[in-house]
Amino acid sequence: MGSIIDGKAVSEKVRAEIKQGVSELFAAKGLRPGLAVVLVGEDPASQIYVRNKTKACEDVGIAGFQHSLPADTKAEDLIALVRKLNEDPQVHGILVQLPLPPALKGLDIATYIDPRKDVDGLHPLNIGNLVTGREGFRSCTPFGAMKLLESIGFELQGKHAVVVGRSNIVGKPMGMMLLEKNATVTYCHSRTPDLAAEVRRGDVVVAAVGVPELVKGSWLKPGAVVIDVGINRKADKKIVGDVEFASALQQAAYVTPVPGGVGPMTIAMLLWNTLSAARRFSESR
Ligand code: NDP
Repeated sequence: MGSIIDGKAVSEKVRAEIKQGVSELFAAKGLRPGLAVVLVGEDPASQIYVRNKTKACEDVGIAGFQHSLPADTKAEDLIALVRKLNEDPQVHGILVQLPLPPALKGLDIATYIDPRKDVDGLHPLNIGNLVTGREGFRSCTPFGAMKLLESIGFELQGKHAVVVGRSNIVGKPMGMMLLEKNATVTYCHSRTPDLAAEVRRGDVVVAAVGVPELVKGSWLKPGAVVIDVGINRKADKKIVGDVEFASALQQAAYVTPVPGGVGPMTIAMLLWNTLSAARRFSESR
């Protein structure tokens, strides 16, 4: 029987560190970090995420600026807002909540955000920085998953990591961060022929798929560490991950729960990146 990695507890520790960092920055430079969160449309899940992010800012002393735009917002108006926020000295981090409404589907809004304020780590420059081992903002969800591995003292060097999912926001940067720590990384996706066999090779398995309970405990190598990124709402409204939690716990050494695993870490790392952005801004003045 494995152990549960308590993402809520780890995220609270990280937030306490951030709160301390925010007050030190204010004491030293009179600067309060600011995060602008932009929401386009009325998607209920996105509304909750944005509210949670703004509230999380307040809790650690970061100024949260919420901008809500209607679903029929034109691309040029959204771009104009992002450009205004790029110039705003009170704003050190900018996050545009995804997904954008269908009418804006073709708009790659991350490319308009000043890379120095791209706290979501989605601008191509920050992705390039990650791939080439340079300093830059790391995408919050995989960054949070790495912190969870660190919290259990897991040594990645020489281990085999299997990442299921290859999205730009989670899967791809996740694999790069594991590689940066000298793991041997396998990426799996919808065209991987024998997913169970690939998962079986993983000392670490990260599931970021969006298919409820896809990864079964019987697929896992005994003693593996499982990071479940998935957030899926079932017909009975229950939230489950991409991993079958109960069977995974039988086979693995550690498993993250859903909810209460990676989710709270994503927000904590967003605050972390915002504090880093504000620190860099204060050093550049
Ligand atoms: P995407 O839909 O962008 O990507 C899903 C990936 O999974 C794709 O690479 C896809 O492959 C792959 N995939 C789909 N079906 C299968 C399958 N049957 N077997 C193997 N691979 C498959 O999702 P995201 O990366 O944005 O999100 C993944 C999950 O993580 C979702 O549940 C989402 O809600 C959750 N999430 C959670 C966050 C958090 O804070 N905890 C933050 C962000 C996301 P292909 O590329 O071939 O299509």
